[in-house]
Amino acid sequence: MFSYRHAFHAGNHADVLKHLCQMLLLEKLCNKDKAFVYIDTHAGAGLYDLTSESAQKTAEYQAGIDALTDAACHNPHIRAYLKLVEQYRKQNRYPGSPEIARRLCRAQDSLQLMEWHNNEVQQLALNFKHQKRVKVHHRDGFEGLVAITPPKPARGMVLIDPSYELETDYQVLPDTLAKAYRRWQTGIYAIWYPLLAKKRDRSQGMIEAIGRGPYSSVLDIQLSVLPQDEELGMYGSGMLIINPPWQFDQQVASLLPELTQALGQGGAGDFKVSWLAQQD
Ligand code: SAM
Repeated sequence: MFSYRHAFHAGNHADVLKHLCQMLLLEKLCNKDKAFVYIDTHAGAGLYDLTSESAQKTAEYQAGIDALTDAACHNPHIRAYLKLVEQYRKQNRYPGSPEIARRLCRAQDSLQLMEWHNNEVQQLALNFKHQKRVKVHHRDGFEGLVAITPPKPARGMVLIDPSYELETDYQVLPDTLAKAYRRWQTGIYAIWYPLLAKKRDRSQGMIEAIGRGPYSSVLDIQLSVLPQDEELGMYGSGMLIINPPWQFDQQVASLLPELTQALGQGGAGDFKVSWLAQQD
């Protein structure tokens, strides 16, 4: 079926950007006592051992979470994220998006975690067994998202973080998002996408498709850590946020200069925050 394993990439620059945004969104949801739901459509294994053969093969975390730790940043959001992952890093582990959500969600909140890959979902279920507020689904996260929306309670966020191993993900994602949004217009949707070499880029078309969608507010955040190559590789990544909470854009804008400084490789690195759609 699929060959993608997130263990090879855990803690890299893309995870850092994604999990920082995820943390800020969850913190906003925690500002009110009212319960919320966290939905992860492409959950992965949930928690990663950085001493494993897979993680050591690429050691991508060294230019990600480790470079950020070494940079001694002052931004309070970066410091909060580093504090959150510190206890895992001390044990040579890195928390995936489900584990970050588990840490930040409260007793009244619930987590819906979807994963399609047989081995990954087994590991995910093992990592989250005995967690009453967590439901692990072995299913296609695109189909699953539409099936469970609108969730109860109808307050919360969705993280859509595909591996983009299938070219069709770039079309299925905007279609799924539009369907889910029609059913649940008040949810926060956070979508990760890769910034790839010029000849391999498919993200731009997807971003434009989402920009033409029915959404009243869409924020686009991009972080590059390398110059863009013609042929090969991922030079950065981005997050699209539908319905970002109040002042989330300012929080992200405040942390990106230090983040770029810390993660940019060989003097490269850039960032951008822009609105594809913005409510008056
Ligand atoms: N969100 C995770 C995190 O931040 O820790 C990482 C997820 S990883 C980038 C993408 C995951 O999606 C992989 O584990 C892959 O097996 C899974 N996957 C691929 N296609 C899927 C689909 N259609 N539905 C659910 N999971 C899928």
